[in-house]
Amino acid sequence: MRLSMLPAPPDDERAGSATAARRRARRARSRMAVLAVLTAVLIAGSATYACGPLRPVTADVAEALISVEEERRLGDELARELETEVELLDDADVQRYVQDLGDRLLASAPEAPEGMAYRFRVIDAPDQVNAVALPGGYVYVFSGLLLAAGDEAELTGVLAHELAHVTERHIAERLVAQLGVDALAQVALGRDPGLARQLATAVAAQGVLTRYSREMEREADYYGVLYLARAGWYPESYAQFFDKLAAQSDRPEVLAFLQTHPAPAERAENARALIASLTAVPTFTGERRYERVRSRVGQVVGDATPSAADLALAPPPAMR
Ligand SMILES: [Zn+2]
Repeated sequence: MRLSMLPAPPDDERAGSATAARRRARRARSRMAVLAVLTAVLIAGSATYACGPLRPVTADVAEALISVEEERRLGDELARELETEVELLDDADVQRYVQDLGDRLLASAPEAPEGMAYRFRVIDAPDQVNAVALPGGYVYVFSGLLLAAGDEAELTGVLAHELAHVTERHIAERLVAQLGVDALAQVALGRDPGLARQLATAVAAQGVLTRYSREMEREADYYGVLYLARAGWYPESYAQFFDKLAAQSDRPEVLAFLQTHPAPAERAENARALIASLTAVPTFTGERRYERVRSRVGQVVGDATPSAADLALAPPPAMR
């Protein structure tokens, strides 16, 4: 998709021309500045970097403190731990389907750093309407969300939002702020199984690894809508899913989601403002195909049970 089709990004992330190079240079400078501060702190005799002094931690700071490679190692550990705590949905076709949706989004996300896992998996938890991203590009969606989504674009919108938390390095940033680099390094090296288990247990029980700032959620919604539209899905579905959650706020299944995210009505409104500024809006929702996916996740048996071939993805007509 051409950059000219995009509305202006929310902050200094404006794409194009020499800004990418400037951004890299800015990050390099920022990295050096942070390392200088850290060195000074360490020389002064403080053995560990705690979360206080450098708040609010910016994306640049997160990048300076924990590289993509380090974040990936941390994610490898946490994903392994999480998958001992939860059951993944026992359906290879549905797992492949969700991975494929993620891959299609990724192909439309030039912001995505290289070296992340970009692994999209379904956790078998029909009573949870939620999704979560771990460090290193591991995105998990709970099967309750697959059942709650009305069409493929709604599900893909949620994946796009989680992918944006990954591409914008929000997860690393929050974890560094909360736990400090030393603790994260220990987990990444497999030397703190207790903390790894604690984090994985929180994800398994509540679908939450860390709380993002409102700014981060806004940014993830911004890129989420863009990734969805660029990849060729109807972006209105992104907002539609929030309407649905707002209308179901009394359901215990959506409680954790609502408690850990900004109000869905406000998010829907922001998403619609962004969609209105898109110069081309795809209309593909994947509704019919999604009915088959949902019935399969719901373990509907008999003639209606779709085959693997039924779930095979035809590409959405992408915006190009
Ligand atoms: Zn979020």
